[in-house]
Amino acid sequence: MNTLDKSDKLQSIASEVSKCTKCKLHTTRTQTVFGEGNPDAEVMFIGEGPGKQEDLTGRPFVGKAGELLTRIIEKGMGVPRESVFIANVTKCRPTVDLKFDKDRPPDEEETIACSPFLLRQIEIISPKVIITLGNPSTRFILRTQEGITKLRGKWGDFHGIPVMPTYHPSYVIRNGGDNSPLKRDVWEDVKLVLQKLGWKRA
Ligand code: SF4
Repeated sequence: MNTLDKSDKLQSIASEVSKCTKCKLHTTRTQTVFGEGNPDAEVMFIGEGPGKQEDLTGRPFVGKAGELLTRIIEKGMGVPRESVFIANVTKCRPTVDLKFDKDRPPDEEETIACSPFLLRQIEIISPKVIITLGNPSTRFILRTQEGITKLRGKWGDFHGIPVMPTYHPSYVIRNGGDNSPLKRDVWEDVKLVLQKLGWKRA
């Protein structure tokens, strides 16, 4: 599939997503967050769901966690953010109640309802490596109940695509941010990805 075809197919799914009412999250969203990036990306990042800033802007990873993810991509991997693809398991923001006060991970019902969109994104983009960020996306992609602390830094597999689980940037920020040993762990995981891809910084 060439880049134009991929782009067209992704846009068509994005249009479906924007009208989707398959789970309760549609009732509280400002807008859907489909994901963004290069349709031909070699690396696809998958988080759990949009947060407040993402819900307001319609873009994935644009708050503080987004800034950290962008640094990981641009400084750690040495490529522009636009060269990878960034998506979430759910395309609408999960919050603890209907007041939009606090984020939470997507529940099982929401994950089941929304994941077909993600699976279609993966199929079209066909990345060389998937990096899952945090528990919900790692557990969904690797079909496990194991926690991220045990899974990070070890290669998994999703239908032949190597999967590297690592911590969600929000978790790193909540646990010390730049000074956190978790950040060093993320860099280590990224190095494994670079080695796998044969990219220069490895
Ligand atoms: S989270 Fe996914 S399944 Fe639920 S309403 Fe939004 S787009 Fe539809």
